[in-house]
Amino acid sequence: MKEVMYSLLTPGPTPVPDEILEELGRPILHHRTPEFGKILNSVFENLAYVFQTKAAEVFVLCSSGTGAMEAAVVNFFSPGDKVLVASIGAFGERWAAIAKAYGLEVVHFKQEWGRALDPDQLLGVFRRESKIAGVFITHVDTSTATLNPLREISRTLKDREALLLVDAVSSLAGEELRQDDWDLDVVVSGSQKGLMCPPGIAFLSVSPRALDRMSRAGLPRYYWDLRFYRESKKIPETPFTPPVSLLTGLAKALSIIVKDTMEVRWAHYKDLADWTRGAVGERLGCSIYSRNPSNVLTACRPAQEFFDGGFVTSKVLKRLRDENKITIADGQGDLKGKIFRIAHMGAITKKNIEAGIEALANLCRPAVPAISHGHRPV
Ligand code: PMP
Repeated sequence: MKEVMYSLLTPGPTPVPDEILEELGRPILHHRTPEFGKILNSVFENLAYVFQTKAAEVFVLCSSGTGAMEAAVVNFFSPGDKVLVASIGAFGERWAAIAKAYGLEVVHFKQEWGRALDPDQLLGVFRRESKIAGVFITHVDTSTATLNPLREISRTLKDREALLLVDAVSSLAGEELRQDDWDLDVVVSGSQKGLMCPPGIAFLSVSPRALDRMSRAGLPRYYWDLRFYRESKKIPETPFTPPVSLLTGLAKALSIIVKDTMEVRWAHYKDLADWTRGAVGERLGCSIYSRNPSNVLTACRPAQEFFDGGFVTSKVLKRLRDENKITIADGQGDLKGKIFRIAHMGAITKKNIEAGIEALANLCRPAVPAISHGHRPV
């Protein structure tokens, strides 16, 4: 990569490799031309592979991931519909906020932060309610770095009328996800994390069942109305002027991912995650926050003796940014100041993480002397 001014170890945006940056700098194509149509087609085709679907239809939107979440609400539901939101963190709460903003009746199940959903418990909640039109879950909740057992959840909720809608904004291309095999109706994601692109593009992959529901959904929508996108795909075009450069960059990123194969990429992030979990214990004396940690980022908590000395992660992270030009994420909500969230998604390398942890260890050293010997505080 070119001269690194900042090292991003954040769960989005993530670093963009040079070969993708070069594509972003190409002269702008007009979006209603066969040349651009070819790029769009390759994006649709390769995204379907990343979502592991042959049956679903993929859409690209000009927005961040939250735009695709909103599109997932407005395209498949009608006023008065009851939906179940099963939240394990800040991004599960976002599903609930969007559904409420559109006047849906929300059954809001909240799992304690740091834990994944228990499929049987979820089934219990689902069965207690009648006429649930959709179940919203998060694959990896980035606020706690927790992975939900998506395959088991879908299997447990089988024979349902309800659609299963999944936020895979931080997990896509990093965690195993198989839309067709796992019977997922709507999966949403964004460009700026596992897909190694700048922020600005969001995607939805929509099952035939959900497409059928879409034709009957009554919530108001215009810019996010996927029926426009579906019509335009036939050309292939997008209904509105798309972020041409970003899509050109995304086409390149996807070609790299497809060449690697999903299996190779999933295994790569598992290795990175295993290594990171070990390193934060050894070098920082941290424990892993989540009971079911994800492979795309690690949330870790310094030992209590740090905090006894007035330690706040936010302050160290600010120094890390100012002095070392390395950005690592703080906790969110009640976890602000209490954890570090180190990403190992997209193009982030072991070397990047090693440098980040080393710099963090140097900054933490005065707080806890044990760290200077590389020992984990007990
Ligand atoms: N869901 C999850 C799991 C996320 O990690 C994020 C971004 N951190 C979002 C949704 C929202 O995405 P965006 O910021 O791109 O709108």
